[in-house]
Amino acid sequence: MGHAKAAIIDEEYARMYGGKLILRFDDTNPEAERLEYWAAIKVGLDWLGVKYHMVKNTSDDMELLYKKCLELINGGFAYLCTCKQETVSANRREMKACKCSLGDLEQNLERWEKMFSKYKQGEVIVRFRGDMKSENTVMRDPVMCRIIEAKHPIHADKYRVWPSYDFSVAIEDSIDGVTHAFRTKEYELRNELYYAILDALKMRKPKVIEFSRLGFEGMPVSKRILRPLIEECKVSGYDDPRLPTLEALKRRGITPEAIRKFVLSLGFTKADTLAPFDTLESLNRKIVDADSIRLHMVRNPAKMKISGMPSAITLPNHPTKDIGTREIILDENLYIESEDIKNLKTGDELRLMGLGNVQITKTEPLEGKYAGEELKPQIPKVQWVVQKDAQKIKILIPSQLFIGEQFNEKSLEEIDVFVESYYSQLKEGKEIQFVRFGYCRKDSVLQAIYTHK
Ligand SMILES: [Zn+2]
Repeated sequence: MGHAKAAIIDEEYARMYGGKLILRFDDTNPEAERLEYWAAIKVGLDWLGVKYHMVKNTSDDMELLYKKCLELINGGFAYLCTCKQETVSANRREMKACKCSLGDLEQNLERWEKMFSKYKQGEVIVRFRGDMKSENTVMRDPVMCRIIEAKHPIHADKYRVWPSYDFSVAIEDSIDGVTHAFRTKEYELRNELYYAILDALKMRKPKVIEFSRLGFEGMPVSKRILRPLIEECKVSGYDDPRLPTLEALKRRGITPEAIRKFVLSLGFTKADTLAPFDTLESLNRKIVDADSIRLHMVRNPAKMKISGMPSAITLPNHPTKDIGTREIILDENLYIESEDIKNLKTGDELRLMGLGNVQITKTEPLEGKYAGEELKPQIPKVQWVVQKDAQKIKILIPSQLFIGEQFNEKSLEEIDVFVESYYSQLKEGKEIQFVRFGYCRKDSVLQAIYTHK
């Protein structure tokens, strides 16, 4: 969802100003990259309907990035540091420069050359000459290039010296002709470095603009929090309906149109406010309502026997839109929700929705007689399912994943219910409104997922 916000805002701005949208994979950390991520991002953007004009990988420009790094070294803007990682960190904390930063060009060039052959991972880094005394910790001689021996998903073992995100993103934005780079706010401190690199190389500077990262109350979007939940099997995967991932939202029945409207309704805000999930739900409800077939579903079923019933009935699939009808073969044995018949007495009347009135003739076991279709506003209306026609399915009901900082162990409720057999004729992925319950998306023949009220 975090990516979705960025992509939608980027696309809208590009469209508004006649610009172009570049989909670029900053793939210069081979340890963190997998081809599945490329695929997942493309699938997600397609689903959202985000169109881009160009796709590229930062790793396509490795030779150019080396050239620019060497330019920094030659210009005295960067140096090679062979200090241990702990020393580098300690010096950063203590705002102290290391000996390497005093080395001459000859030493730097020699180390640069050895970086491609002799040095091992962790033995050398290229550091930008920032300011070890800067209040902005990002500026304390940050890493521009490092050795990573892992296999890259596209280039395999071809490269071992990899540019850092800070370095490559500045160069790439500049050479790709990016005019406006939108990033989430947690990168704000990195802007100083971004501009300093481009200044040192006398390259064109794009304008960087930040916006706040999208977050939902009780539903964290960061991978740092979500990944452990998956690894510890607290949720079933990235498409678990409790998660704010696109896969999960799709599975739950949230539409891409609603996500776009929602993101645009938040606008270009910088404030870190948590968005209420209900807003997304209510936008979604307006979109899915017209196409959602109305079906009967009964929880905690109670049996009821009714005499004098018509033999069949045709029900409309939607109260106002023409999305077809369905015929139900009736039978005297029905399921009704236990909740709905709790206080019934002999002589009471019930309205079976879409069918007609029933007068109770006996309560143990529950029996009644069909009493015609006349509308009587004062009698309770209930949904029902013919026992012979009933199909048992499971409904998953997701709720808030975290309560405060605590994982909510009860965040996924599962209920067994009876639905009309017409359910089995619907396509997977179809949105349904179970009457008097709420909207659900058909997940499989045996399972639906609760979307919202
Ligand atoms: Zn050093």
